[in-house]
Amino acid sequence: MEIRSDYLIIGSGIAGLSLALKAASAGTVTIVTKKEKMDASTNFAQGGIASVLDPTDSFELHIADTLEAGAGLCNEEIVELVVTNGPDMIHELIAFGVNFSHDGTQTDRLDLTREGGHSRRRIVHTQDLTGQEVERALLHNVEMNENIEIFENHMAVDLITASKFIKRGISINETEETCWGAYVLDISTGEVKSFLAGVTVLTTGGAGKVYLYTTNPDIATGDGLAIGYRAGARIANMEFVQFHPTCLYHPLEKSFLISEALRGEGGRLIDKRGNHFMERYHPLKDLATRDIVARSIDAELKKSGDECVYLDISHRDPDFIRTRFPHIYKRCLGLNIDITQEPIPVVPAAHYLCGGILTDKRGKTNIHNLYALGEVACTGLHGANRLASNSLIEALVFAHFAFEDSARLIFDKGDSKCPPAPLWDSGSATNSDESVVVSHNWDEVRRLMWNYVGIVRTNKRLDRAMRRIEVIQQEIKDYYWDFNITRDLLELRNIATVAELIITSARMRKESRGLHYNLDYPDRDDANWRHDTVI
Ligand SMILES: Cc1cc2nc3c(=O)[nH]c(=O)nc-3n(C[C@H](O)[C@H](O)[C@H](O)COP(=O)(O)OP(=O)(O)OC[C@H]3O[C@@H](n4cnc5c(N)ncnc54)[C@H](O)[C@@H]3O)c2cc1C
Repeated sequence: MEIRSDYLIIGSGIAGLSLALKAASAGTVTIVTKKEKMDASTNFAQGGIASVLDPTDSFELHIADTLEAGAGLCNEEIVELVVTNGPDMIHELIAFGVNFSHDGTQTDRLDLTREGGHSRRRIVHTQDLTGQEVERALLHNVEMNENIEIFENHMAVDLITASKFIKRGISINETEETCWGAYVLDISTGEVKSFLAGVTVLTTGGAGKVYLYTTNPDIATGDGLAIGYRAGARIANMEFVQFHPTCLYHPLEKSFLISEALRGEGGRLIDKRGNHFMERYHPLKDLATRDIVARSIDAELKKSGDECVYLDISHRDPDFIRTRFPHIYKRCLGLNIDITQEPIPVVPAAHYLCGGILTDKRGKTNIHNLYALGEVACTGLHGANRLASNSLIEALVFAHFAFEDSARLIFDKGDSKCPPAPLWDSGSATNSDESVVVSHNWDEVRRLMWNYVGIVRTNKRLDRAMRRIEVIQQEIKDYYWDFNITRDLLELRNIATVAELIITSARMRKESRGLHYNLDYPDRDDANWRHDTVI
């Protein structure tokens, strides 16, 4: 089956939806999303969106904070682009119907909160459910738009690139690698369909599921990264994985984030005995950047042998806590933790991937007609460490510039369309009778990444991880060609590829910088390593 449109957008988070709403003014838009449309990291974002909206704040300060967090690897032109376009993007969201929290004063301005690494209060939010509100409003607008069609439970498998035509002996008039859409698995029927488009956009989000402990939802298996890599896209800075310092530690909750805004509003990290420890690690104490806080917790846990540390905000007024953090309050109370009275048990967990598919300032990849936006992309904004709440704004700004760039492509191309694409060929694949191979390797990849390629790395651990992942990759390859594809199998193939990319990049960088910390090279080495790691 073949489905054609001007735009094919893969993913329905903030990057995909905000682009779709603009792209629909230039042509027809198809969105494919692998589960239900709300299933995206965007929907889980609690803290908010960073932007300069207060008269006492300035673009210069937001730029300086972003550069400071990025540890010498941010692209300054990109930082300026994102920061200076931020306020317009917030006003666009408000026009789309996003209800941000207000400060309740006479002027009733947007309430701005503060997070680690920010020198000013500049995070707009909707209580502690910002992402859910943004996703709701964008989806509502998308559903009202006649030019946009969403296919739920449709999972992109691989891109349809010019070389796929050539391999099958179909002549195509392209001088450089060009993308014409994607093969997509309809999860409910098992059929692989060809979605063809003049512009294809990967907005598949991050890859937290590569690690055993993560704040990310189940969709975050790095599919877009692996799909792009297989098609020849350039991948950068994969060693920079951000571990959020404070994920709830509880046997009944696998990935519930305790927002950084809790520390922004006075929450303090303490050990089992009630001792505040951050002052021993950094002058900004609990509001140091995430890498420093996560490493400090890791060091405390290794020293004490405890399973978690605690985040305490119980000294603040209970009504303030309940109003400002209603979601966290209720979720913890459901587990018998009353955060107005007692500290919250927390551990670090994989949270955000700073690396990704390398793009230019319009979101374009090195493959013709292929864009990558949001967490799947590496734009140069975050460098070696993302400043809190800078990712939602990055997705909005890049969706805007990708639209401006790609709309020209749609208009210029007129009627010239992709020729009929080669159909998906499943060869002699049969249904698997050994699904245990998939579940075993899923578990093994995630454990080995947590144990050997986590917050603190060493050469020995990285070498060990590489040896294991090579064996797993081979097993997956054999299995992949023998059996019909399922979502679990595709995701396993993708997390293994992403794991290999992270290990490869981490082995390449022979220094410690930002989120990448290797005990064998504990210092930052600007003379030799102040550049991206590109694969
Ligand atoms: C718990 C949590 C809290 C966060 N808090 C904040 C915050 O306060 N501020 C901030 O700036 N950032 C925050 N972040 C990060 C931010 O939410 C993400 O970086 C951002 O939402 C990514 O948006 P996206 O559109 O790129 O991807 P996502 O929102 O993850 O959307 C990806 C979409 O792609 C789909 N998809 C994936 N693979 C495929 C495939 N193969 N085929 C089809 N569809 C596919 C998914 O189903 C999903 O619809 C947080 C993240 C988490 C997990």
